[in-house]
Amino acid sequence: MRHICLTVLLLIFFLCGFQVSCFSEEAWDFFSLHAFDHLDNLDKQAEPAYECGVSVLYATGVGVCGYMGIPPAEQWENIKRDVQKYVQHAKSLGIPVVLGYLCSTSIVGLETFDQNWQPEFKQQFSSPPNSWLQQNVKGEPLLSWYGGDYRPACMNHPEWKKYQKYMVKTSLEIGLDGIFFDNPTVHQEGCYCPYCMEEFLHFLETRGDKIKDTSLNALRELALKKPVEFKKFRCTIARNFLSELRNYAREINPKAVITTNNSLNSPEVLFSQCHRYAYNIKEMSKSQDFVVIEDMESAPHRTSQGTTVECGPVYDLVNSIIGSKPLVAVTIADRDYHTPPNLTNLAIFEAFARNTNYMLWPIWEESQQGKMLQTIRPFMQWLKRNAPPIITSKRRNDVLLYFPFEEWSKHEDCKELNIVRKLNQLNILYAVASEDNFKGYFTEANIILASETGFIPPPYSTSITELCRRNNKIFIDASRPNFEKELKTCLLHPSIKIQGNEMVRGIIRETSDTVFILLYNLNIERISSYEDNIIPARDISISVRISNPSIGKILLSTPEREQDIADYEITKLGDTDAYLTFHIPELPLAGIVIIKP
Ligand SMILES: [Zn+2]
Repeated sequence: MRHICLTVLLLIFFLCGFQVSCFSEEAWDFFSLHAFDHLDNLDKQAEPAYECGVSVLYATGVGVCGYMGIPPAEQWENIKRDVQKYVQHAKSLGIPVVLGYLCSTSIVGLETFDQNWQPEFKQQFSSPPNSWLQQNVKGEPLLSWYGGDYRPACMNHPEWKKYQKYMVKTSLEIGLDGIFFDNPTVHQEGCYCPYCMEEFLHFLETRGDKIKDTSLNALRELALKKPVEFKKFRCTIARNFLSELRNYAREINPKAVITTNNSLNSPEVLFSQCHRYAYNIKEMSKSQDFVVIEDMESAPHRTSQGTTVECGPVYDLVNSIIGSKPLVAVTIADRDYHTPPNLTNLAIFEAFARNTNYMLWPIWEESQQGKMLQTIRPFMQWLKRNAPPIITSKRRNDVLLYFPFEEWSKHEDCKELNIVRKLNQLNILYAVASEDNFKGYFTEANIILASETGFIPPPYSTSITELCRRNNKIFIDASRPNFEKELKTCLLHPSIKIQGNEMVRGIIRETSDTVFILLYNLNIERISSYEDNIIPARDISISVRISNPSIGKILLSTPEREQDIADYEITKLGDTDAYLTFHIPELPLAGIVIIKP
């Protein structure tokens, strides 16, 4: 009896910790924690995921059958029953959303793919799977760019889409809430199958082109003659595929969730992945409920050489091109899927500070599970307790960077990445606006940066330099090697000044009466899969520009403790503004300073 009471109390504790403070409308809204529950041979890790505070779980579902073809009838029924049981279990723990995995393009074992299909299933298809593959310009099937026994199916092929719809329907019928589609890619050469050529014609005509010869051969010739248009078209294939599958899923379950792997294996490939594999995050975001990126090396940390690695700047770029869709990010360090506990917490906080949901990989060796949970769980409880007012607050910025994402078709390097990285290193608070939302930001900004002086941001028709001149705003050409020097002379009173440690980052968010400073220390070294070493930031001086110099209370909240900051200084900057300066003796990993009038 005593045991039961304790269980009930613990349950209430967890519900309070994780659910009540989470006021989002949907389980995947900002801020939520996501998790893959499988890695190599270990899967179904719902328990550790739940204990970390995960609300969206990415399970295998029927993904393996999806890319290998359906197994013999009895085995297929057992697999579905098994997945259904696991989904029910994960939900009974308290995880609200469980997604299944499907691959958008993979056929593994082409020769045996349809060997177990029942006659009534097989007769739905008018062509065999070996005709669903992506094709080169001669119409020959393209080989895999992943190697192995994998063959790439074409996302425009109606029979492949029919097969994928069957897998989506099956997934939803066994209780999964939606699908995470992996590998929505097009071959580097592009696919020239008849369906893609028909869609390419439609793409050109929608842009106003008049095409006389619409034969297959002529369209293939045209694709070769118009490489830029063909690349742009390829970037719409996954978007359209996901849109069709999402609409279909919603016919079965109006709340079905669809997301995909948007790749971005390193921040540097934001443009080049559009060229190579047609991974265009902006296009794909249009048909996803939230946008998942999978980074392979940028988990924030300090390297053994003493340099810092960060993912934050790229979150800001991506958030500027995906509208209001939530961003979800996985980051790992040194290509190891196991991230030690403090580094996991740092990654969670870095993402949180940049309006991004973090995705864990809580697939830990049993002997390490306790240690991982002991560090991650209280950190998440602390963050979720503090998150609600911060989520609805507004991020402050001193400068605006214009990020014309559509420039990707002109070159493979994203120049804006180095600019945001520089601003971030200097703790200069910036906003990033793309073609989609420039106007709103421009109205409020005083200092505008761009990587080219000739950009014409929509909806305007003059260059950005001219636009700034006409509106009495300062323009800084960030393509110059030392643009930050010029910026510093223009930005006399930056919103935040952090002195004493170059590895501390600070972000300001505010409501009408509260200022939040999110601080984190990058000085954490990765030792091994499960071990890290924190070197706390000591004796940091923080000055924050405020407009209301009457301070009521300053609180520093860290996962370790909460303490009032009673010792502070106010330096007037004129009639309205002032600097509030205070001192933090030690910041191990992350902290939130809350300033109230
Ligand atoms: Zn095709």
